[in-house]
Amino acid sequence: MLLDMRTLWMVILVTYALTGTLQLVLWRLQPRERAMLCWGLSMLSGALGAWFIMMRGVLPDSVSIGLGNGFTAINYTLSTAGLLLFARKRVNWWWIVMPAAVVLPLYTQVPLFSEHAGPRVLLMALLLGAVCVANLLISWRAQQLEALRLRQIAMAAFALTLAFTLTRATLTVFYTPPADFMAPQAIQPTLMFLGIALILLWNITVMLMPSERLQNQLRRAAQDDALTNLLNRGGFNTLSLRALARCRHMGQPVSVLLMDLDHFKRVNDTHGHEAGDRLLCSFAETVRAQSRASDLVARYGGEEFSALLPNADRQQALVIAERIRYRFERVSVPVEGGELGTTVSIGVAEIGAQETVEAALQRADQALYTAKREGRNRITLAPLLQGAAAA
Ligand code: GH3
Ligand code: MG
Ligand code: MG
Repeated sequence: MLLDMRTLWMVILVTYALTGTLQLVLWRLQPRERAMLCWGLSMLSGALGAWFIMMRGVLPDSVSIGLGNGFTAINYTLSTAGLLLFARKRVNWWWIVMPAAVVLPLYTQVPLFSEHAGPRVLLMALLLGAVCVANLLISWRAQQLEALRLRQIAMAAFALTLAFTLTRATLTVFYTPPADFMAPQAIQPTLMFLGIALILLWNITVMLMPSERLQNQLRRAAQDDALTNLLNRGGFNTLSLRALARCRHMGQPVSVLLMDLDHFKRVNDTHGHEAGDRLLCSFAETVRAQSRASDLVARYGGEEFSALLPNADRQQALVIAERIRYRFERVSVPVEGGELGTTVSIGVAEIGAQETVEAALQRADQALYTAKREGRNRITLAPLLQGAAAA
């Protein structure tokens, strides 16, 4: 297949310009995400570079080659700047403009580059390779802190682009370009076509990353309790369904705790609502400190808390509940004229084989009621249903 180079550059120009414009529009909609501004400018710079390269033979060679490659270098490096900003990292702008500042004089003043397409293509391919490596490293580190599905796709695209550009660089060493750079050819345009497809893939992917982040933030905000940062009741209900299904699949027992702070009304009445809130936060901290990462802990409502403990039968749940009770008894928050503390009563139930989380919580609630009646600051175990979860 013979492809006309000028047509191909036209395709680059139009697709890059449209993608870049779309990214700038998205940036206007969400101006705090400055990464999108970088990516938009990156694509517009790529479009500008394509225009200067297309103008070979119309503009003086030095202008077409120098500015064409200079803008292309900025197109590459600004993508890295965008990834850094998206990962909330500082950008060293010197690194972002430096490649363009080197390419411009090199490609216009040094005969090896100004007179031969091979070395020019080789150097640009190596620059793209270095950018891909940087993008991969930045994304990999960011992924450890904030896992995004789209970032995985972007990383795959960076890796593919890296493989592609190294292949292209190797081929360039053995390839003599035709005298007329813009004449229809087979190899170079096909490679360029692949390159464009890959760069478009990463740009479309990164363009959607901020909305994945936003969706995650919204979901978290809807599932979290604003005061204690534990789950709220809705979040607990949603996540506990999944956790229970997972444990049943693996044949593991699951237990629930229902915890209610003792005489909390009195706490509020004597020391005020604000002190009460601080005590609620201290209790949340206590439970968090005593639970594993896989446990789900929620503020079920008011001063009532729930926990779902995967892979814990009623005896193990009892041990965890006792640890919470024991620690919280020793917790206090400073108030005017002294320290304020209270105790907690806990109902424990192991979820039955056919039982729902809701039904198990009801049994835990009955056990909690017994604990309250028998004097508070204690734990009551709900009777085992016939055939517990693991049976
Ligand atoms: P018991 O030992 O029987 O549980 O006594 P209690 O006083 O804790 O009784 P109950 O559980 O019915 O009391 C709930 C109180 O918790 C009522 C309300 O004043 C307080 N409360 C509920 N939500 C909040 C909150 O968000 N902040 C504060 N500070 N207090 C709350
Ligand atoms: Mg209470
Ligand atoms: Mg209560």
